[in-house]
Amino acid sequence: MLRLDTQFEIHNLDKPRLFKVISLSELIEKGPAVCAGYSTLNDLMLWLDTSPTASRKELLSSPLGGLLTCEGKLPEPPKDKVILSSPRDSRVVQPGDVIAVTPGTNVVRVLYRRGADSNLLFMTDRCNSLCLMCSQPPKDVQDEWHVQENLHLIDLIDPVEEQLGISGGEPTIYKEGLLAVLAKAKAILPEKSIHILSNGRLLSAPDWIADLKHIGHPNVTWGIPLYADTAHEHDYVVQAKGAFSETMQGIYNLARASQRIEIRVVLSRLTIPRLPELAHFIFRNLPFVEHVALMGIENTGLAKKHHDELWIDPLDYQDALINACHFLDIRGIPVSLYNLPLCVLDPSLMPFYRKSISDWKNLFIDECSECSATELCAGFFKSHSQRWQSRGIRALQQEDLIAYTRSVP
Ligand code: SF4
Repeated sequence: MLRLDTQFEIHNLDKPRLFKVISLSELIEKGPAVCAGYSTLNDLMLWLDTSPTASRKELLSSPLGGLLTCEGKLPEPPKDKVILSSPRDSRVVQPGDVIAVTPGTNVVRVLYRRGADSNLLFMTDRCNSLCLMCSQPPKDVQDEWHVQENLHLIDLIDPVEEQLGISGGEPTIYKEGLLAVLAKAKAILPEKSIHILSNGRLLSAPDWIADLKHIGHPNVTWGIPLYADTAHEHDYVVQAKGAFSETMQGIYNLARASQRIEIRVVLSRLTIPRLPELAHFIFRNLPFVEHVALMGIENTGLAKKHHDELWIDPLDYQDALINACHFLDIRGIPVSLYNLPLCVLDPSLMPFYRKSISDWKNLFIDECSECSATELCAGFFKSHSQRWQSRGIRALQQEDLIAYTRSVP
């Protein structure tokens, strides 16, 4: 549950900056080559530990962009470098991370965390839908600056194989920016797979086909939400008339551009009634999709406001879930279940179950302390509260685990 920001004392900062935090040994061994793309010493922030070497004068006078110390303060801090000291939580920023600092605030944001499986390029707070369960309600702002930040961030990320998300808001709103980010990711980070979360509506414009083909990124997956097999139900969930046909057109355009596609369905009182029909619809009309993700609600943002309309106890939709999962699975479309507590699921669903909640958002509640399944279970979102809790939560015993794991091939 490590946060992605914390407060520091910040000195000598006169403009927004990104830094790659680097340990002394990495600095000596690799220097700016620790970053995937173009970078100079000025992009690096040296993470000073308490060793005597770390305070040597040569280090403090080197042409690095910044110095970070978690333990106390530097006796004679150089004036030509950004200085970060006295973090509120010293665990948040570590060597390898990429951080953003902005004048006028002492908050340091971690844009890239070394080794995490949930790093993402955040494109915008804007969105053209207003989904009832949106966990991060859109803002009507001009924030195209995220594009430049992401282009720079790509340069500073570790050049290792891992997944990188692209998200918002709706990332297709800044079309040219998104295409530039994809092109740069392909050039600088070819070893990373990219997962883009988009409502797919703007992708209905046919020029995306040629643009995406032209970039030709070999490892991009688009996660597109589809909430029903009928326009009326889907449009209501996303609060946008015409969204269903735009999203369907967008999905077909992605297929024409040879993109990999995942369909995402948030499970709620509104989407459960037609879930089996939706599974049929996907198989009949979108047989080219590579994956279907069925997901529990993140009980934050607009979802809190719409609790009564959205909440349904997972215990009460097991039949629909079993029906949809097995229907797709038998027909060769891979299915995953995300963001649900394991103990409320029928054991036959175990082959589809994923421990999905990002480490920094994850929580286990008191009832879990006696459970034998914490290693397997996704648990809860940090925002969890009693009114979003299934009446089926129970500590699983070893014999329960046998029933769950028996169904995994
Ligand atoms: S009781 Fe066990 S299975 Fe249920 S939510 Fe907690 S850890 Fe998961």
